[in-house]
Amino acid sequence: MQAIVFDRTVRFDTHHPEPVPKDGECLLRVHMAGICATDLHIMDGYMGFSGILGHEFVGTVAAGPDEWRGKRVVSEINCVCRKCDMCLSGLAAHCVNRTVIGISGRDGCFAELIAVPLRNLHAVPDRITNEQAVFIEPLAAAYQVLVQCKIEPRMTVTVVGAGRLGLLVAQVVKATGCRLTVVDRNRDKLELAEKHGIQSIHVDDVIGRADRDVVVECSGSAAGLEIAMGLLRPRGTLVLKSTYAPSSAKSNAQASAQSNEGALPNLAPIVINELHVIGSRCGPFPEAINALTREAVEVRSMISATFPLARGLDALEAAKDPQRVKVLITMNPR
Ligand SMILES: [Zn+2]
Ligand SMILES: [Zn+2]
Repeated sequence: MQAIVFDRTVRFDTHHPEPVPKDGECLLRVHMAGICATDLHIMDGYMGFSGILGHEFVGTVAAGPDEWRGKRVVSEINCVCRKCDMCLSGLAAHCVNRTVIGISGRDGCFAELIAVPLRNLHAVPDRITNEQAVFIEPLAAAYQVLVQCKIEPRMTVTVVGAGRLGLLVAQVVKATGCRLTVVDRNRDKLELAEKHGIQSIHVDDVIGRADRDVVVECSGSAAGLEIAMGLLRPRGTLVLKSTYAPSSAKSNAQASAQSNEGALPNLAPIVINELHVIGSRCGPFPEAINALTREAVEVRSMISATFPLARGLDALEAAKDPQRVKVLITMNPR
C-alpha cells in the first residue's frame, strides 16, 4: 500500500506492507488525514519515532466485527493496556504501556490502511463530513483545556498562538462566555480568529499587563511562552498545549550548540507570581463529535490546502509554512 514513512528521513512508499490487525483490533481504510505540529516535530526527531506518520484521521472499518464493519469512524490515539495503575485509576491516556498512533511504537494514518484497537473507535455521525471529522482528534485536545481548568464567564482568558490548535482552543474557550483574546504574529491568522468573533491582538501590540486569569499557550515557541507568563495575574493559570520540540527533540549537546534557539525563557515569573502550570494533551472525543454535530465549532475555514497521499511529502512541506493553518491529505475516497 501507499504510505508516508519516517525513519530519520521521510519518504513516500508505494509498496509498504499492509497492516495486520491483532486481537481486539480492526482494519480501517483511511479517507482523509490532517497534519499537526506533532508530525512536524517528529520529523525533527521528537519521540524518536520511526514508522508511518499521522494520527488525525477518518476512515471506514474494512475488516472487523459485524457491528463495526462498513462504519465511518475516528480513532483515539492512545492504545492502552487496561491493566496498569494509570489505566486502573481512570487515567488510561497515561497508560505506562501505551503505544500512540503515529507518535510512539505504532504506525500512523498517512497510509491507505491502518489497524487500530476496536475500543479506540468512535462512529462519525452522517452530518459530519470527512473534512470536519479529521479535526475531531485535535478538537478533543482543545476540550481537554476545559476538563483541566474551570473557566467561568467573569474570567479573562488569552490564547497565545492562532494556529491549527490555537483556533480550536479559542473556539472552545469562547463558548464558556469568558472574556477572550487571541495573540499571534500572523495577521491572516488573527483575521481568521476575528471571523470567529474572537478579539485578536498582534504580538507587537501586546502589553504584558499581568491581568489574565488563564492563558493557554498554543504557539509552541519560547517567545509565546514568555508572552503567556507576562500576561498572567499572580496565581493565574498557565495551560501548556504545545510540546517544545527543539529543546525536547534534540540532544542537549545539539541544543546548546544552537545558541538560544528553542531554549526555554526565564521561568522565574512562575515562581514570583505563583502561577499554576497545567500540561495538557489528549481530550474527550465525544465532546468534539458533539460540537461538530451541533456546528458549535467551525473548522472548514481552517483548511489551507488538501493533497492526495501520493503528494504527502508536498503536504508536509506545505504544513511547515506558517501562513498555512490546516493541511489535509486524502486517501481512499468514500
Ligand atoms: Zn495532532
Ligand atoms: Zn495501562
